[in-house]
Order: sequence, then structure tokens, then C-alpha cells
Amino acid sequence: MKITRIDVYQLSLPLLKPYRLSGGRLLCTEIDSTIVRIDTDEGISGWGEACPWGSTYLPAYGPGIRTGLDYLAPLIIGYDPIQLNVLNRHMDLMLQSHPYVKSAIDIACWDIQGKCMNRPVYDLFGGRTEEDVLVNSSISTADPQEMLDIIASFQEQGYSVHSCKVGDNNPQMDVRRIETIEANRLENEVYTYDANRAWVPATAIHVMKAVSTPLSWFEQPCETIEECAQVRNCTLQATVLDECLHKFSDLQRVVTNKQCDGVKIKPNRVGGLTKAKLMRDFCLENGIQMHIEDVGGTVLADTAAVHLAVSTPTSHRLATWVCQDMIKDELAAGQGARNRSGKIEVPVQPGFGIEPDLTLLGKPVQTYR
Ligand code: MG
Repeated sequence: MKITRIDVYQLSLPLLKPYRLSGGRLLCTEIDSTIVRIDTDEGISGWGEACPWGSTYLPAYGPGIRTGLDYLAPLIIGYDPIQLNVLNRHMDLMLQSHPYVKSAIDIACWDIQGKCMNRPVYDLFGGRTEEDVLVNSSISTADPQEMLDIIASFQEQGYSVHSCKVGDNNPQMDVRRIETIEANRLENEVYTYDANRAWVPATAIHVMKAVSTPLSWFEQPCETIEECAQVRNCTLQATVLDECLHKFSDLQRVVTNKQCDGVKIKPNRVGGLTKAKLMRDFCLENGIQMHIEDVGGTVLADTAAVHLAVSTPTSHRLATWVCQDMIKDELAAGQGARNRSGKIEVPVQPGFGIEPDLTLLGKPVQTYR
């Protein structure tokens, strides 16, 4: 099988509500998504998506993905989409880093593989678990009562897992947020306090020592692996690392040096599902718990990540955030992985189970053949 044509589409996805994270310093109102369709000489096509969370969250930028594809896509025409190790090595050789650019291609090839085998992609990842994937809420930074109100609206919808954004310049305000939320915790709920790297180590240590959160997690307190490790050495809080893990060697380093208890694996951040699966399997062998989800985008990005999440044993699997509830545009109405009252319904069709609405996509902005 050979890749014969690649179409690239662009979608601007306004958020239903402006969203703030990292103590309010990162405001996002719209996300810029790149959708890729790969055609093959055997008549099977696959879809992939790459969508950074604005331009401030990670070293990625929507138009930059399409510029990267303009260079990379012509170089993979003729490659076999089933031979993903060969294809990924070629992409890494041709273009250093730029994982978002490669991610859309790699993900579309997994869709093709599933369709070739007439199996949902989760079967190619080892087979799905019986248990549902729980949806992680995402609670924007606000004053403590406002955050409680947002959490209550998710509780009413059936959510039991919540990711609360903290990371204020004023550590006392973060302590108040966390203590207010913990005081209102329902039995069986799981909370994560995600600073999105806003704190310097001293602030993180002060906040994390000041609060009593024996059943909760703290996520990405500081910018770098070294700073997060400094914090972890000074507190007993369970920590998740996210934005500082860009490649396998980052993960290997933090696990080997026991610098975290959990991680977030996002296919777009690490270069696609092939690399995300490698990281998932390494975490399974090393006792690390995982959130598996993507950075943002349509139901296509949600679904690709959910196929990996649902094939991950529940002993190691934490909840999955989905972006579909934060945007109004529907790439594929009624299709793909869907949030049903805080649990994810996973499609059983071959591949990802998504055929995008071409009227929404419009004409491709770039075509390579
Ligand atoms: Mg995070």
C-alpha cells in the first residue's frame, strides 16, 4: 500500500466560553486546527488532526503546522502507511522535532490501518478494556466559589473526576481555591490541581505543603522537569507531569529518577499515536498512571486519543478530557468517541469510526500528490 495524496484542511474553532489556565496568564478564545486526509493506492483513506491549544500552551502554532506539512507531506508520498516505524523514522530524519506536524500524519495512518484490518484502532493497541473511560472535567481558574459552581455543573452531568486550574501569582489565593474545593469533595471524586507550569518551585512548595489533599493530584507545578523534581522532593503530594514531556527520553528520565507518580500522554504533543503508544506501554511496565487525551481539537482528535485510552488497563488509566464539549462546530455529528454524562462511548467501526462532514471542512488549503 502507498500514500498517493494528502489533503490539508484548516478549521478555526471558537471556544464556547473563553478559557483561562495557568493562574489566568494563558487566555484562549479560539483554537486553530489542521485536519489531514491521506489517500492510498488501495482506495482506503484515513483522517488525522493536529490542534495546539492556542499559541501559548506548548511550543506549537496552528499556521506552523501547515507550514511544516508543506515541507513534509511531499516527502512521504509513496510511503506505506502500514509501516509506521519506517514512516516515523523517515519523518524524524527529514524534519527534526515539530511533533505536531508529524502527529496528524501518523494519526491518519492508524485510521487507515484500522480500516485495512476492518477493526477499530483500539484493537490494534491491544484490545479495549470492559470498563468505560471516565471524562475529566476542566475547571477554568476563577475565584473559589465560582470554581465550585463550575464543578457543581459537571457533577450534575455525572462527572466524578475534575481537573482544576490553579497557578496564581498570589499563593494564598491558590490555597483558598484548593481548600474550598477539598472541603466540598464528594465521596469517590478525584481531583487534580493543575498549575500549567505557572509556579516557581518555592511557590509550588509553599502551596502544596499548606494544603491537605491526601487523595488528590498536583499537575505540572513548574516549567521544567528539574523544577518539578525540586518540588516533588520537598512534598508528599502525588504529582502528574504533562507539558514538560515532549519525547520518550523525557518520560524515561522522569520515571527512572522517580520524579512523578503519573503523566499525561497527548498524541499531538509527542508526535502521534505511534510514539504515544510507546510511552503508554513504558508506563504500564513501570507502574505509572496515565491520563491519555489530546491537546484540543474536534471529535477526531478526541477519538484518536480515546482509542489508546480505552485499550489501557484501568489499574494504570486515569480519566480523559475531551475537547468536544468546549467547541460548537461538529466535524462529524453523532460519530466518534462521545461524552455521555461523564463517560466515553467508544465507536466500534473500523479505524477511528469517523467520516468528517466535508461541507464543514470546505476545500483543502493544500493538496499533495
Ligand atoms: Mg495539564
